[in-house]
Formats: sequence, C-alpha cells, structure tokens
Amino acid sequence: KTSLTEERINAVLKEAYEKFKNDQGGKNADYIKALAEVDSKIFGITLVTPDGKVYEIGDTKAEVSIQSISKVFTAALVIQEKGEKFLQEKIGVNATGLAFNSIIAIELHDGSASNPFVNAGAIQSTSWVEAKDSKERWAKIYGNMDAFAGKKLNFNEVVYDSEVNDNKRNQAISKILDAYGRMGSDPLEATTVYTKQCSVNISSHDLGVMGATFANHGVNPVTGKKVIDSKYVSKILAVMATAGLYDNAGDWLYLTGTPAKSGVGGGILAVVPGKMGIGVVSPPLDKFGNSVRGQKAAAYIIDKLGINPLAQ
Ligand code: GLU
Repeated sequence: KTSLTEERINAVLKEAYEKFKNDQGGKNADYIKALAEVDSKIFGITLVTPDGKVYEIGDTKAEVSIQSISKVFTAALVIQEKGEKFLQEKIGVNATGLAFNSIIAIELHDGSASNPFVNAGAIQSTSWVEAKDSKERWAKIYGNMDAFAGKKLNFNEVVYDSEVNDNKRNQAISKILDAYGRMGSDPLEATTVYTKQCSVNISSHDLGVMGATFANHGVNPVTGKKVIDSKYVSKILAVMATAGLYDNAGDWLYLTGTPAKSGVGGGILAVVPGKMGIGVVSPPLDKFGNSVRGQKAAAYIIDKLGINPLAQ
C-alpha cells in the first residue's frame, strides 16, 4: 500500500505538471463561441484531501466556465430534495451511448433523459429543483455550487451571453421532455437557468475543493459545512462513473477506476472517495469533449499515488 505522505503527493503532482505542461493535444470547444477565445495555455492542477490540505501547481486560480460539471451539483441538489428513487426513476442513471446533446437518445428511451449528466437530464434536474420561481431556482443552484466550492463563485457574463443566444437545441430538448411529462417547471425557463449554471466560473482550486467535498462524504473540508447527505454521495459518484466523461466514460473508468465529470470549458473534477478531490483546468479538448491534459494529469496522479478506488 502506498502511503499518501505530503512529500509523495507533492512529488507526483509536480511530475504530472512537468510531464504534460507542454502537451499540445486537443482544441478548445468552439460550438459556444466564447469558449474558443479562452487561453488554451491555462493549466492548473489542485488536489484537496479530506482534512482540507491543498496541493496545487500551475494556473490554479485561472477561471473557465464550469459547463457540464455543474450538472453534478444540480443532480446533488435534486437527490437531496427528492430522494434517490426520484433521480433513478424520473431522470435515470444509465449511459445513453449517444452524444451529450442527443435528441434521438430521448426518443430511443421512451422519453427518458437516461441520466442527469447529458443535457436532457441536466435540464430536467434544473427544472425539478424546488422553488417558487425561476429567480429562486437559480439562486439555489448557484448557492449550492458555492457551498461545494466553499466560496462565492464568479459568473461569466461573456459565456452566458454567447450561449443563451445560441441554445435552440437545448430548448428543443426541454420541449420534448415536457411533451413526455418529465419536466418540473416551464421548459424554456429551465433551459435558461441551466444555461446560467453552465456559465459559472471555476478554477482548478475550486474544482479540487468541490471534489474533496464528495471525497469527504459530503462535508466541505474547508468550511466544515455539510452540503449533501453522505448516503447520497455514493449515488452521485455512481452516475459520474457511468456517464461523467461523455462517450468515453467507460475508457476512463477502465483506466482510473475513478468517478469524474468533465465540462467543455476544459475542467475535470475527479473524486477518489475518502482520499482526495482532483481538479484540473486545461481548455483543449479531445474528440469526446474531455480536457486532454486534464485527463492525462488526473490519470497519472491516480496511478502514481496508487489510489484507483477499484484497486483498493
Ligand atoms: N452548456 C453546454 C451545452 O449545453 C454544456 C456542455 C458540456 O459541458 O457538455 O451545450
């Protein structure tokens, strides 16, 4: 068994950074125009352990939009409010085998989104957050992400403006789900709130703390606040393992054994239960939409530290 000493963690972190910092693989997402303009060189890695210790290197304060990683926190809010059966039965917990914004996937599964990490399931999750109106729903979703990060996260107006004027496909998805009776609030309102949640900014530091909150059974190790019941943590991590890295989730799990979620902004959050949260930010993506250096750095760290959860 490898012992996770501070020295060992720092040494492996530095190795990962040096090994991949000049990797030129991948390219920024460009289907959302503002994402194409983000500095591709940003590379930050942050590891946070359940005792709140932070290990980090590179551009750990550089912020990108959270995008799909936000789906994890909204799903956490829904399971917390409505319970595990609701998430499983109303939204789903299976892989689609199709693209994250697929409309066919909904039709193929009798109107089910399949899981909360494809756009359909994420927009659906957003709609089910209990609130009297859109303003309150958004405030809860944003506040919940702040609680996981242990700080007030910034909002990226540029990304939001770019995306909100270009989200017809997500609007269509929300309407189809509504036709199947699966939405908890007005579909277009939910799509707008979903677009807002994708436009929240995070750094690798923030992702590290957010991941560590899951690794620490739902208690933020920096603020000491409980943000999700421990009994639900394993459920959210299960969905991350199944559907966290788009159509490459199986390969990622095979390689690392670790629940993770990526976003097209270039962030990756990985959770090693009981051991650490790993946050990486690097905008260039592979063909699946996952950060190239993010995956390489996280996989390297998990391997070298001997913390693959399936190998324990
Ligand atoms: N806001 C993006 C969309 O709806 C999120 C995509 C992602 O990170 O997968 O297309």
